[in-house]
Amino acid sequence: MAAIILDGKKEANKLLESIKKRAKALEEKPGLALVLAGNNPASEIYVNFKEKTCKEAGFYCERYNFPENVSQNELLKVVDELNQKREIHGILVQLPLPKQMDESLVVDSILPNKDVDGFTPVNLGNLVNDNNMMEPATARACIALIESTGIKIEGKNAVVVGRSNIVGKPVALLLLQRNATVTMCHSKTKNLLEHTKNADILVVAAGKPNLITKAMVKEGAVVIDVGINRLGKKIIGDVDFENVKDVAGFITPVPGGVGPMTIAMLLDNLLMAMKLGRR
Ligand code: NAD
Repeated sequence: MAAIILDGKKEANKLLESIKKRAKALEEKPGLALVLAGNNPASEIYVNFKEKTCKEAGFYCERYNFPENVSQNELLKVVDELNQKREIHGILVQLPLPKQMDESLVVDSILPNKDVDGFTPVNLGNLVNDNNMMEPATARACIALIESTGIKIEGKNAVVVGRSNIVGKPVALLLLQRNATVTMCHSKTKNLLEHTKNADILVVAAGKPNLITKAMVKEGAVVIDVGINRLGKKIIGDVDFENVKDVAGFITPVPGGVGPMTIAMLLDNLLMAMKLGRR
């Protein structure tokens, strides 16, 4: 039987409606700062989407664009100013940064309670301690899409392909917190199929087009494709969608799956940042 397609846009719109309602009850307008350095075309598209969604929600938004040769000190100075700014509750520095930057130094300079991406060591460390403060938006998006299936995560075999600090590791931790049995796979994993074939829940964040084929997926599995790969003008995920949909129980499309849900989660994190800021 063909898989049920998990509509990320629809889920994101539901969440955005609830975010707007919750924001109306607040005394202040949520404020987000977007920082973009360099001219990576994909980063520019992502930041444009984030800005558009933020403005459509009626929130306050500041955007800072820097050229490729921006100095680290300039960027640190802007983050410092945003850390102090009252009307800014969340700061998002788009990654990757230009090569001359020490990316972790810039990310670490964001105040943890304004870190809507959840990438600072404090926020990632809290996740490891099961003391979640700001959860990374893409990982939250994956969990929300899995939960939208109605399938219980507890006790399931969950396999995460990819171990980056911004996607793979946080997804694995959130699944573990929900009592899944989690296996993490990466570029050095031997015989990937042996692991993926056993997954009731399969989350793929490798950045490798069509890495996951039909033969690698268990019948009825929930398949979450985080990958964004550009093939000419086309954007595809890490999963061979056309064939895997015949064996999976649920599957996210690319585009229209994890991407829109991630942006909605960023705005949800912005409301969380306002709560944390008031503590
Ligand atoms: P990354 O390059 O930092 O990490 C990729 C991971 O995949 C690594 O841990 C690597 O070991 C693993 N990997 C690579 N090749 C593999 C293989 N053949 N077999 C098994 N594992 C392999 O990437 P990232 O930042 O984690 O992003 C992953 C993908 O998700 C990218 O395509 C990125 O564009 C996309 N992404 C999407 C969103 C979204 O909102 N939809 C957000 C962030 C990232």
